[in-house]
Amino acid sequence: MKNTLLEIKNLKITYNSKDNTVEAVKGISFNVNKGETLGIIGESGSGKSSIAMAITSLLDNKAKISGEIIYNGIDITKLSEKEKNKYRWNKIAIVFQNRLEVLNPVLTIKEQIEETLKEHTNFSKEKIKNKIQSLLNMVGLDEIWINRYPHELSGGMRQKVLIAMAIACDPELLILDEPTCALDPISRNQIINLLKNIQSKNKFSMIIISHEISTIIKITSNIEVLYKGYILEEGLTKEVIKNPMHPYTRGLINSSPEVNPYHDLWGIPSNIKNKKNNGCVFYERCNQSIDKCFNNIPILEYVSLERKVACNRGGIVTVLEAKNINKNYKLKNKLIKACKNCNIDLKSGEIIALIGQSGSGKTTLANIISGYLKQDSGIVLFEGNKINKYEAIRQKKGIQMVFQDPFSSINENFTVENAIKEPLDILKIEKEEKRKDSVIKVLKNVQLPTDNEFINKKIYTLSGGQRQRIAIARSLIMEPKVLIADEISSMLDPSTKANILRLLKELQNKNGFSMIYITHDLTIARKIANRIFIMNDGEIIENGISTDIFNNPKCNFTKTLLKEGLFETI
Ligand code: SF4
Repeated sequence: MKNTLLEIKNLKITYNSKDNTVEAVKGISFNVNKGETLGIIGESGSGKSSIAMAITSLLDNKAKISGEIIYNGIDITKLSEKEKNKYRWNKIAIVFQNRLEVLNPVLTIKEQIEETLKEHTNFSKEKIKNKIQSLLNMVGLDEIWINRYPHELSGGMRQKVLIAMAIACDPELLILDEPTCALDPISRNQIINLLKNIQSKNKFSMIIISHEISTIIKITSNIEVLYKGYILEEGLTKEVIKNPMHPYTRGLINSSPEVNPYHDLWGIPSNIKNKKNNGCVFYERCNQSIDKCFNNIPILEYVSLERKVACNRGGIVTVLEAKNINKNYKLKNKLIKACKNCNIDLKSGEIIALIGQSGSGKTTLANIISGYLKQDSGIVLFEGNKINKYEAIRQKKGIQMVFQDPFSSINENFTVENAIKEPLDILKIEKEEKRKDSVIKVLKNVQLPTDNEFINKKIYTLSGGQRQRIAIARSLIMEPKVLIADEISSMLDPSTKANILRLLKELQNKNGFSMIYITHDLTIARKIANRIFIMNDGEIIENGISTDIFNNPKCNFTKTLLKEGLFETI
């Protein structure tokens, strides 16, 4: 394409050593257009830095490259070392991660930049002197630092020196590896603004490699999401951050404090299942894998106009959908419209909060969704299939509900063991002798004792917090894909409430189930939910991404609710 500066085609990078071979990059392709800033994100070990080193032809002899790196129509992987040298720094420059050892400790700032210019240009002494001056001006570094050594400079200043060195030969493509890593917020913003300003003057393209999502949002227009050498998602930065479509991308974004200022942060669990596979690289950590994923490597392909995703299921799937739900009650000749044309959807691994005042219809809707109550009209789909009555709550990997009142939701004359395994007993799931093992497993999950004394205790001897944990364990024993938690902390004291919520979020993160959290407590909703649904008088009046709803509510009712609800907490 005419506007394309760099084309990476099926790039593979393998490191060979005596003992083993590591494939760091496994056949990736992407383009960088002229003047564009592309972001590459991914956890450590995803192959980001290897790609940068390959583009700048700086990989050492142990690395073997295949595929093409086409720069302005020329495949630079096919060039001789001498020819590659003409591209390095003059056309393609790199700013390495800002560590003290990147700069030569025995050279002053002036000497460092001078060395770069001497090596890659044939400028006269006078021209070099002037160029150093103009570069320092450009990066906003005061002249007083020119004869200082790297260790005398702050992290932000050293980053400016590295940028000055990289742009010394006026490259057309600038690659920056973690440009704002370890900088304080003021220095970080200075570097971001500096890069934007220099780019608008010099018109170069940039590739920004970073694990700092805030830097990526502020400076890049497009993004590649990398995991273990594969691109798993690609698209416009703002769209991808707002609406990630691959479970891995969502995990990365959910781990970012800048994007989720109110959430407790939970990283992507390292292994949900302990099965090595030959298929999807994210299989072991994925909460929505299917059998096909075990052997089938997904291809990065378009799922919408400007979005590509590598997933056998086309990206994050919708597990639950309630469409046009209506439910009326008759009370002494009076018609109560508990649900009015309600629509709700829940994605795999997602938490949504259903917020509303008492009597707004939340619990009715939850009971309909789980199959406890029949709607007058409308349809509920679980994994794409219509739910018939109790079907979804009577199966493993279905829907489970934890109720508000831990005192009345469990028969208090049961022992702990019998209360937890009751669903398995009733539905005759698992062999009798295996059920006790399952009880022990879920008791561990909800952080309760597993000794005989405890599991033989009667429920009525337990505290409210312990009973609520038992209620959660009872649900978990069915390994639900969807857990509906109906005001589960409202009857608990603040400390027990905090412990239960933390436990629930931890379990959700670890087990990967989706959750509908029903509450009137806005602060809790803000803390745990990805999306919010606001319900009033039987209607869902507003829904959206949690930060959007809290920062920019549209409906007057939501505005009032937030004002009152959040004010109460101050
Ligand atoms: S659903 Fe399958 S292909 Fe998609 S990310 Fe999960 S494991 Fe990979």
